[in-house]
Amino acid sequence: GGNRQSGLTFAPEAGTQRMRDIVNKGLTNEELLRGVKTAWEQGWDKIKLYFMIGLPGETDADVLGIAETVAWLQRECRAKGRKPLSFNLTISNFTPKPHTPFQWHSVSTSEFKRKQNLLRQEFRRMKGVKVNFTDVRLSAMEDFIGRGDRRLASVLRRAWELGAGMDAWYDSIERAFSAWGSAISEVGLTWKYRQVENGEWNVMEARCERQEEDTFHPTLPEGQSTSPQPQAPSPSFDAPLPWDYIDTGIDKQWLKADLERAYSAATVPDCSFDGCSHCGVCGVDFGHNIVIEPPPIGQFAGHFVPNNTKVQRLRIWFGKLGDMALVSHLDLLRLFDRAVRRAALPISFTNGFHPSPRISITQALPLGVTSSGEIVDFELTQQLEPETFRQKLSSQLPGDIPIYQVTSIELKDPSATKILSGAEYLLTVATPVSVNLVQWQEWVEKVKDLDTIWWEQTTKSGKTQMVNLRDRLFELEVVEPKNRSSSEDNDSVILRYLGSCQQDGNKLRPEHITYMLEQVAQVEFQLLHIHRNRLLLEAVIK
Ligand code: SF4
Repeated sequence: GGNRQSGLTFAPEAGTQRMRDIVNKGLTNEELLRGVKTAWEQGWDKIKLYFMIGLPGETDADVLGIAETVAWLQRECRAKGRKPLSFNLTISNFTPKPHTPFQWHSVSTSEFKRKQNLLRQEFRRMKGVKVNFTDVRLSAMEDFIGRGDRRLASVLRRAWELGAGMDAWYDSIERAFSAWGSAISEVGLTWKYRQVENGEWNVMEARCERQEEDTFHPTLPEGQSTSPQPQAPSPSFDAPLPWDYIDTGIDKQWLKADLERAYSAATVPDCSFDGCSHCGVCGVDFGHNIVIEPPPIGQFAGHFVPNNTKVQRLRIWFGKLGDMALVSHLDLLRLFDRAVRRAALPISFTNGFHPSPRISITQALPLGVTSSGEIVDFELTQQLEPETFRQKLSSQLPGDIPIYQVTSIELKDPSATKILSGAEYLLTVATPVSVNLVQWQEWVEKVKDLDTIWWEQTTKSGKTQMVNLRDRLFELEVVEPKNRSSSEDNDSVILRYLGSCQQDGNKLRPEHITYMLEQVAQVEFQLLHIHRNRLLLEAVIK
C-alpha cells in the first residue's frame, strides 16, 4: 500500500565514471542505465537526475560528461510510439563538509559560474531536458557557514535577527543573501567570506587576519594579549581546522590519505561488506562495525489499488508530548499514515493520479511546541466503532502521541480547519531579572485594559498591514506558580491565553503575547516553552 511518488530521482552525482570513483559513489554507467531504463519501461517518462560540479580533481571533460550521460540515457530509452524520456536535472555546486576527505577542497565562485556556463551551452542543444543550477551565492554561503569557526556564532545570531530563517533562501534569495551579507559585514568577517568566494578558504588565513586587525577585535580572556601572533601562511593541509577538537573517531591522517586515494580515482570498499581500510573508528571508544543482515524481501502481493469509498468520518483529539514535539507537521502526517497501515485500518484514499490517505490534521503545530489538544480527521472505507479505532491506532503510535477522544461525525460535516475559531496555550515566559507575582499580574491586567495593541504584519504577498492584536485576545491569566507567595521573586511564570485561531490568518500567536506584554512592561520577555492546550471549534466557542 502507500502513496505513489510523483517523481523518480536518481543521483549519479558526477558525469563520468572517473569522477564517480573519486567521490567513491560505487555506481557504474551500466547500473545507472539499468535503473533509468527499468523506470522508463515501467511507465515513467520523466526522471529527475542530481549531479554536482566542482568536485575535487574535476576537469572540463568531467563537467561536459554530465551532458553526455544525459544524452546517452535519452538515446538508450527510445521506442517507437513512445514519448522520448525527458529529464529534470539539478546541478549543485559541491560544498565540502568538515570531517570528510574533501574538507580541504575549495572552488571559487567564478569557477563555478564558468562550469555552469559550459553546461548551459551543451544543454541548449538538447531537447526534453530542464536544468536547474544552484545559485553560486547560496553555495558560497553554505561553504562559509559549513566550515566556519567560533566567530560564526555572532554571524548566525545577527543573520537570524535580520530575518535569515530556515526557509528564507527559498522565499527570497535576494533578501536572505542580503541578511547574511550584512551579518558577516557587521561581525567583520567580510574578508573571510571573500576568501571562500575566491576558493582560497583557509590558505593565507594568518595574513588576512592580520590585515583585518583594524576592524575585527575578538574578545580575549583576561590576561591574553590582543596583538596577533605572526605566523607564516601555512599550507592548508597542515593548518589546524576549527572542528579538529571534535572526535568523530576518524583519523585525520586517514582523511588525508583518502583524499590522495580519491585523486588517483581509487575506490575504497564499503567496510560493511569488504575489507577494513583502518579509518580509526573501530576500537575501544566507538566499538566495532557490526553488519546486520537485511530481512528477506517479502512476496510481491500485487500493485496497490487505492480504495476511495467514503463510509465513515472520525474526528480524533490527540496530544503531541515530550520528544514528539520535535516531529514536524509533515512527519506527523507520515506517522499517522504508517500507523493506520500497520493497524490495518480501512483508510479511504483521495482520487486522482496521486492518491493519498484521507487524513487531515487541523492546524500545524510549530516544531518544538507540545500539545494536548490537536485534532485530526480520518475518513474510512468501512464502519468502525470509535473505541475500536482508538485502540487499534493507539497500539501503533508512540506513547507521546496519546489519543484522548474519537468521535464519529457526518461525512458532509465541514472540516475542523474550516470551523476552527480559537486556541488555548500555556506559555512559559521569562524576564531578564526576577520579578514577583504581583508584578506579573499587573502586566497582564494592563494588557487586558488596553483596547488596541498594533502589530505590523507582512502578508504572503509581501505587503505590510497593521492588525489590532487586542481584538484577537479573549482570555489571559497567570496560572503558575500557584503556591508561590505573591512577593517571592522569580524569573519565569506560566501564562494561559485563549486567542483567535482561524483559517483566514486571524491568529493570535504566542510571540504576539510576549510582544503585548513588552508594550506595557517595557521589558524584553523570552518564550521558554509553548504548549497548546486545546483547539476550539465553532460549535464549542460561543
Ligand atoms: S571496519 Fe571500522 S576501522 Fe575499518 S574502515 Fe570500517 S569503520 Fe573504519
